[in-house]
Amino acid sequence: MPQAIVNVTVWDGQRTIAPGFVLWEGNRIMDVGRADTVRFASSVRLISGDGGWLIPGLIDLHVHVDEVITPSLFLQFGVTSVRDMGSSPKVIQQWRTRWQRGEPVPYVYWTGRNIDTGKPSWWEAVAVKKPADVPGLLEHMRKLGADGFKLYVNSDRATAEAVIDYARWRGMPVTAHHETIPSSELMRLGISGIEHAHCLLHELLTERPRIDEKRQSGYLRVFAGFERLSPDTAQARRLLELAYATGIVWTPTLCLYDLPPWWRRKKPARIAVPEAWRKEWSKPYWDFISTRGWTQEDRRRAEKSIYVFRMFVRRAHEFGVLIGAGTDTPAPGVLPGAALHHELRLLNTSGLSNEEALRSATIVAGRALSQGTIGVLQPGARADFLLLAANPLNDLSNLQRIRKVWVNGKPVPTASK
Ligand SMILES: [Zn+2]
Repeated sequence: MPQAIVNVTVWDGQRTIAPGFVLWEGNRIMDVGRADTVRFASSVRLISGDGGWLIPGLIDLHVHVDEVITPSLFLQFGVTSVRDMGSSPKVIQQWRTRWQRGEPVPYVYWTGRNIDTGKPSWWEAVAVKKPADVPGLLEHMRKLGADGFKLYVNSDRATAEAVIDYARWRGMPVTAHHETIPSSELMRLGISGIEHAHCLLHELLTERPRIDEKRQSGYLRVFAGFERLSPDTAQARRLLELAYATGIVWTPTLCLYDLPPWWRRKKPARIAVPEAWRKEWSKPYWDFISTRGWTQEDRRRAEKSIYVFRMFVRRAHEFGVLIGAGTDTPAPGVLPGAALHHELRLLNTSGLSNEEALRSATIVAGRALSQGTIGVLQPGARADFLLLAANPLNDLSNLQRIRKVWVNGKPVPTASK
């Protein structure tokens, strides 16, 4: 039966329509428009939005679902789709099956396994021996359900080129978490996205400072040296111009740089961290994102680097670079769903307007995924949307005043008011 929500203001990803309506049948949106000029067939079931706001379901572009113990938290916070960055195909399939059954999990887009060269740099990564192996590997991942691909820290230039070329031929997006190949080189090769603030900017460092392994260097490395960068040098401007010209989506994952154990002190998205997550994040597994062993000086410099990252986001945005919203959930303190609201606030304080921040988690995120059917409310789009009590364009915190969430055309019971 076709259904329509009326008595709402609709924000479709680009424009505000008031009074608006959204009409859908099954899991597809059939029509979106002005409610005062439409006449619905008698077969349409009308639902009142009680003067609220209807917006596309939110998308988190950087999630590791195999480490997420509470999938339903995403929906509680209005996140109806996530992009997974390298989990196992088995886990992806489980989430998709549950989603298909109507269980409270978001839809998962998958970038396949992280791609390295030579040897894997992380337990979730796969390594290619030679570029000629790339098409076979990507084809294998595509058949397992990959929607795109992700280059990882140890991939060399030849591998990067082979991955980007093959994905382009397939019409699939490629993004990268890279710390050695300059991002400008990846952009010239035709990459479609760059993850993390430090991965876009590392080529601006004159030298990578050496870090003592004993001091939890993994996490220190994402900050070290960046405190000295400025977005106003000629080299920085050229990099940002290139990011604009090549149309990449940069997902700076500002949440990732909030220094742990900040979640002990602060409440992500102003909610208390569930006990299960406190316990989870206390495990030694998470030590690679820890400030243990840091000196006062390390901490001071990291805070300076965080400031620099935000300055670069601001400048990149002014250059017209597309900024995507991703969180690196569930790094310590980066709580599923809640973290996306925190990321939007950080993007907001880094120069994106409320509406632009919202675009980074909707229409721009859809573009990062090369999916035109999510992150927007338009005919043909998947029926994923949120009914909010108040206008999110006036105040981003209204994004948390969720009355109801629809996933794949069906309402999800939510705990929030
Ligand atoms: Zn990640």
